[in-house]
Amino acid sequence: MTTCLGEERETRMPYKMWINGAHTSGHSDTVLTVHNPATEELIDTAPAANAADVDDAVSAAQAAFPAWKRLPVGEKAEMLHEVARKITEQTAKIAHLLTLEGGKPLVENKDEMSWSAACFRYYAELGRNSRGRVIPSVEATQLALVLKEPFGVVAAVVPWNYPILLMAWKVAPALAAGNTVVLKPSEMTPLSTLLFAEIFDHLPPGVVNIISGYGKECGEQLVLDPRVRVIAFTGSLATGQRIAQLVAPQMKKLHLELGGKDAFIVAEDANLDVAVPGVAWAALLNAGQVCTSTERVYVQESIAPKFIERITEYARGLRLGSGLDPNTDMGPIIGESYRGKVEAQVAAAKEQGATILTGGQRPTHLERGYFYQPTVMTNVNHNMAVMTEETFGPIIPIMTYRTFDEAIALANDNKFGLGANLYSYNPINVKRFFEEVEAGTLWINDPLTDNDAGPFGGFKMSGMGRELGEEGLAEFQETKHVHWDFEGAAKSWWYPYGEK
Ligand code: NAD
Repeated sequence: MTTCLGEERETRMPYKMWINGAHTSGHSDTVLTVHNPATEELIDTAPAANAADVDDAVSAAQAAFPAWKRLPVGEKAEMLHEVARKITEQTAKIAHLLTLEGGKPLVENKDEMSWSAACFRYYAELGRNSRGRVIPSVEATQLALVLKEPFGVVAAVVPWNYPILLMAWKVAPALAAGNTVVLKPSEMTPLSTLLFAEIFDHLPPGVVNIISGYGKECGEQLVLDPRVRVIAFTGSLATGQRIAQLVAPQMKKLHLELGGKDAFIVAEDANLDVAVPGVAWAALLNAGQVCTSTERVYVQESIAPKFIERITEYARGLRLGSGLDPNTDMGPIIGESYRGKVEAQVAAAKEQGATILTGGQRPTHLERGYFYQPTVMTNVNHNMAVMTEETFGPIIPIMTYRTFDEAIALANDNKFGLGANLYSYNPINVKRFFEEVEAGTLWINDPLTDNDAGPFGGFKMSGMGRELGEEGLAEFQETKHVHWDFEGAAKSWWYPYGEK
């Protein structure tokens, strides 16, 4: 097979799944074909798991659960630290593959690997420190406890935009809490995750299983399997709704991290030397394919002309190309249909009166690949999809506002509530912003910085549950109340009723 991995491909083993501590091609004859979005070339293939593969993976996770649950937390912590050590050791190889299959610049994928290692280290220690509590008992002869326990088998279903980081945000806390995992990456970016077999191979067989496959054939089988007790999913609103409907009769624990339409408010006191590159980075990082990408900008009218002029110039200067080129600022969009959605939103906005100041089309110098120019738009409003629906592309649509009340109302006027950003050094604005804006993460003067200790997730239709922080561990823990009476005497309030 001639692929963009070239000769290296001829000598390398085919990509395989990882079930019960062993590599396997699975039971299906079909494969996933994985393409490089920067060149449209085939990179390689991966197994397309079918129902029998899902059954094998869930059976392995189920069988591994009792021993993993009982393993002392200190030993679990050591194993999670070892995962982090191996991620760091394999950063160069896996980051390269992430750039091939996902398109992000290599520097961003190296960051993704190091943040993922940090996440495993964080949950290794948080798990070691996890505790229930002793609560006041009803009577003196009793002891009352609140215990935290694992659920059992967790299905971790991950999208293509941050395949390793979003895997880490699920797998690290799930394991630290004592659960076992079946992990399913996106069909568009399975290869880097399949390499994690080497990173998890010191764990007991079945504790982590990796299966590659399509959402419909493999993902639905996985979430519907009655032995799976928790679904930790990151992806689109439509898929989250579908999963919630499918599994409602089984009352599973659902943890859904869905879409966003994050607002960025730029107040009149913003420093434009910082706000211009800061807003551009928040909107264009990974070609706008971050769940917390800035997708709507609201600028105070007194500084709007200068801000718009400068951000247009800045966006025009960014360099598009292969993520393997160290001089590339922005890579491609993941695929043709995703670029088509961006193009349709921009075309509709233009028809409704929007002005394109730069971009608004494919770059002419790149013939192959799903590239789209960084785009700055004005004369937009909340009747346009580009200001209301998730775009997931390199678009900066800008509206102006007069009062801060107006800015907050505009920020809240959306069905999503994942994150929101503000540039202001005025504490009155800042306090109002973080108290009144309906979103899970509020960034002030430092867009999009994640903190392992800071819970991440959405309000409204951006989902339910939180990843990271103590909340991220609690999502994978059942709570048990233990009521223990050592005396065990008969109670006066039992039958028979009436005068005793
Ligand atoms: P997607 O919903 O198409 O796919 C996500 C995963 O779900 C993939 O592994 C896919 O195979 C699987 N899947 C698809 N249909 C399924 C089904 N019926 N049953 C079970 N599994 C199924 O999303 P995507 O296009 O890969 O990712 C982009 C979306 O992810 C965007 O909407 C983005 O906002 C969202 N996202 C959210 C966060 C967050 O933390 N809130 C982070 C990153 C991305």
